[in-house]
Amino acid sequence: MEAPTYTPASAPVPEGTVVIERASTPQDLGPKLNRTAADVVRFLMQQGEMVTATQSLTDEMIELFAAEIGADIRLVDPGEEQEVELQRQLGFDELFGEVPEDEAEPRPPVITVMGHVDHGKTKLLDRIRNTNVVEGEAGGITQHIGAYQVEKNGRRITFIDTPGHEAFTAMRARGAQATDIVVLVVAADDGVMPQTVEALDHARAANVPIVVAINKIDREEANPDRVKQQLSEHGLVPSEWGGDTEVVLVSALQGTGIDDLLETLLLVADVQEPPLVSTSKGRAAGIVLEANLDVGRGPVASVLVQRGTLKVGDPVVAGAAWGRVRALIDDRGNNVKSAGPSTPVQVLGLNEVADAGDRFVVAPDEKMARSAAETREHWQRVASLGREAAVTSGGAKLEDIFEQIQQGEVATLNLVLKADVTGSLEALTEALRKLERDDVKLSFVSRGVGGITKSDVQLAAASNATIIGFNVRPDRTAREMAAAEGVEIRTYEVIYQVLEDIENALVGMLEPEYEEVVTGEAEVREVFQVPRVGKVAGCYVTHGVITRNSKVRFLRDGTVIWKGTIQSLKRFKDDVREVQAGYECGVGLSDFQDLKQGDIIETYEEREIART
Ligand code: GDP
Repeated sequence: MEAPTYTPASAPVPEGTVVIERASTPQDLGPKLNRTAADVVRFLMQQGEMVTATQSLTDEMIELFAAEIGADIRLVDPGEEQEVELQRQLGFDELFGEVPEDEAEPRPPVITVMGHVDHGKTKLLDRIRNTNVVEGEAGGITQHIGAYQVEKNGRRITFIDTPGHEAFTAMRARGAQATDIVVLVVAADDGVMPQTVEALDHARAANVPIVVAINKIDREEANPDRVKQQLSEHGLVPSEWGGDTEVVLVSALQGTGIDDLLETLLLVADVQEPPLVSTSKGRAAGIVLEANLDVGRGPVASVLVQRGTLKVGDPVVAGAAWGRVRALIDDRGNNVKSAGPSTPVQVLGLNEVADAGDRFVVAPDEKMARSAAETREHWQRVASLGREAAVTSGGAKLEDIFEQIQQGEVATLNLVLKADVTGSLEALTEALRKLERDDVKLSFVSRGVGGITKSDVQLAAASNATIIGFNVRPDRTAREMAAAEGVEIRTYEVIYQVLEDIENALVGMLEPEYEEVVTGEAEVREVFQVPRVGKVAGCYVTHGVITRNSKVRFLRDGTVIWKGTIQSLKRFKDDVREVQAGYECGVGLSDFQDLKQGDIIETYEEREIART
């Protein structure tokens, strides 16, 4: 074997910024920085990190070495440079850039509603939608496709119908921005609360104008002036007080002030600089609002067209998904042939479930759409292999952690954390951090808000991690993939139980896991009031069997909103014991009233998993 060659410390480092791919090995890294692989290995050894020349390095190791020799580097994901080239070929600069003056036409503003929990965001969105349906489109069934359009004074306004700043921020984190104006909802009887401020910060960070809706003015304790005072303290001075924030008083419950709010939004939209324009000409481009796998229809993506006109038959590509548009469905459930700027529409015909926040474009031709998606898929795989190599250098999942501790080395527990809201995610992370000991470290492979998805499972599988879900659940695809890949998903509703389980695992006493077997799944199609019974959810059973008295939980966008048992189950007028997949049924909701169309009812059993 050749003796390792070391470079003198005085050897020059490359000038300028050197681009280094994440998860590079010493063999890749050394030469790029005018050093040898052996230099990298030796240096890391001195830092207490044992690596071989062909092992993937973590970001930290790469940065440490670069700092040591004084090189200026930029870490990129594998495939990032190829992505730049792909975007050039697909014409991203043109499609997401400024609209040529001679083509510019005004477009509807896109609005996101944010604010503190229970201040009435959902109610406001429902109210606006129900009273201002676009002319001539009434009659259809309201479809939840991530956004909807209403009409005011003959002009259209688009509302993103996932309220809150989580989705907004998640999209922005991926470089996509869909929102032109934020409506900040503040309850007149409660005033500015922590999430109001949080939402305000997010809107400001995104440089998006804010219109305040002071809601619940029908309530006796309502005190709009106090709210205005509080808003002023946070830099939102109402225009009537000489500031530049439009404040509208509304009652989502009674429908007062809604016209005023819509008119204000149009006014604010009109004074935006640069103006809100787009063009309906040319290839369509926009952003994926949400996507899922639908039984029967295959992958479905709800997109917001931002430019051009999306048409049936167009070859589209969104992230690593591609296809020819088979059908377009609008927010009223109608099949449409095309969708122009600021229009939300559901797209059928993609080969895979796209990710929310992905930008989609119509490619010049089908071949290009396909090759772009395949290239991305390839690099995503390479990146996840790289992460696996980097993270698993020493990391273990929950069930193996004790064994690793016993071997007397410093053990690392790899976790993927998912929670319902950012607040609980932070709280959980903090609490977990406190469990770290000299011989046990935690590594958060990823942390995020929202239901547990296939990409969480992919990441956990690739990085030998356990998934911890707090108030969230895996969707069907994620669950199936986890079973196939041997990824453990543990879900909790109380933080101390998470801590207790992990502490037990550290001393080799991990409680037997109760596997939850999902026995049935139904989608809420409609909720109606039945005299003397209360609310009943009209559902369609999509999987398995729904049985009376079974344990049940209600999910909205992957987040658990209620747990309990089913009280009554009916087929038409008759009480029944069970309803099979493919049939409709009515589910009585005794003490839980807040179901909505699109929510999922999931029934389950708990079975203990025998450990071997
Ligand atoms: P979100 O968490 O911000 O989406 O709040 P919701 O829309 O779910 O509303 C929370 C509660 O406040 C629900 O019970 C609503 O019925 C109630 N609510 C919403 N708007 C109004 C309003 O204008 N007046 C009154 N009195 N109650 C309202």
